[in-house]
Amino acid sequence: MYKNFGIAMLVLLLVIPYVHSEVWVTKESEHFIFYFEQGSKAERDIDSIINIEERNYRIITSYLNIEYKKKINCYLYPEKRFKEDFGFYGGITKNNSIYLLYDDFDRGFIGAFRKGYGDGHELTHVLTSNTWGPPIPGDYINEYPPSLYFYEEEIAHYVHNIVIRNDPIVSMHIIAKAILETEDIPDDIISNLDTYISSSLNRNNYMTYFYEGIGESWVSYLIEKYGIKKFIEFYKLSCKEKSSSKALKEVYEETPEKIVKEWKSYLKNEIKEIDAEKIIEAEKKIMEDVNVDELLENRNYEELIELHNAWKYMAEVHETNILWCEEVCVRGLKFLQEGKNFYNKGDYDSALECYKKAEKSFFDISFKKYFEHTENLIRECEKINENKKMEKKDFVLYFVVIILVISIIVFIKIK
Ligand SMILES: [Zn+2]
Repeated sequence: MYKNFGIAMLVLLLVIPYVHSEVWVTKESEHFIFYFEQGSKAERDIDSIINIEERNYRIITSYLNIEYKKKINCYLYPEKRFKEDFGFYGGITKNNSIYLLYDDFDRGFIGAFRKGYGDGHELTHVLTSNTWGPPIPGDYINEYPPSLYFYEEEIAHYVHNIVIRNDPIVSMHIIAKAILETEDIPDDIISNLDTYISSSLNRNNYMTYFYEGIGESWVSYLIEKYGIKKFIEFYKLSCKEKSSSKALKEVYEETPEKIVKEWKSYLKNEIKEIDAEKIIEAEKKIMEDVNVDELLENRNYEELIELHNAWKYMAEVHETNILWCEEVCVRGLKFLQEGKNFYNKGDYDSALECYKKAEKSFFDISFKKYFEHTENLIRECEKINENKKMEKKDFVLYFVVIILVISIIVFIKIK
């Protein structure tokens, strides 16, 4: 007994330093319990995070007419821990908890909070899934039909983009219009949504993209055209009857095919002209899982320029305000590319000049990695230039000494 106790204490002592760094600190607000690590960025920003999320809570509950009794757990994760626990970057909902990546990182939520809109997406998931359904995480195939998860996802998109972030409505329809022009959208897609989604579930990324693109447009159309009240009624009935097509007919008093036709003609006639192929190409580029760290380490700026050009193009067609940021970022990457060419030729002065121009382009928090990378390049160039100056000084000294020695020898010989 005592021996085991001793061993247990030893193990505990060895483990404590590791466990300690992972302990969550909490702070409660009116509707949330926030969890974050001591000394993390989340801890530093917690008051403004609380303000933003409480505001989002008020907006969403009033927009969706939801009364929710429980306090929501909101975990604010550092980058490494999020990747370890979930295997990707971003945000996720489980039961009554939201997990958000909150760190200095271009894929995290930190930028969204600094810009003042925070997270409305996962918050919508918690509120709708716990009051109307379907539950998250759910049994995707058996318990509820897949179309209900589709609507659950799309209402969260709509609330976050349109209600919270106030994006123009055109942003929700661009991808669907591009799909409509390149692949067509079948008229029976909504009445047979479960079958369509089921057959695409284990297929490639592109199919998920196809339904997401169509989904956000379809749901936005229903809400904009027939109102949010009707949509909520339809959503609740879908969950109750576990069938979205049946509920759609009942609530909208119209066949899904007819509404789909109206929606398609709206996309065709009311949404601005687009270059569908260019949009699909840009979206595919964005969906490639690009490893920014690796590209920076290899100084492969061409790939990064391509990626940011795709973002820039999509921001342009979506008419969002991140456009100018992307524009400046692309300019910065081009300076890095130019600097690299000078560097490779050994012209460190010109390289340094380019790097200093690039540095100014990465002011936005989303580009912190590029900023740090550029600062390192600047330091590297400055060091090389300094060493060269030292070498030059050494050389002059060397030269003087040799002349002196020769003079002394000559002097001695003459004597
Ligand atoms: Zn979601």
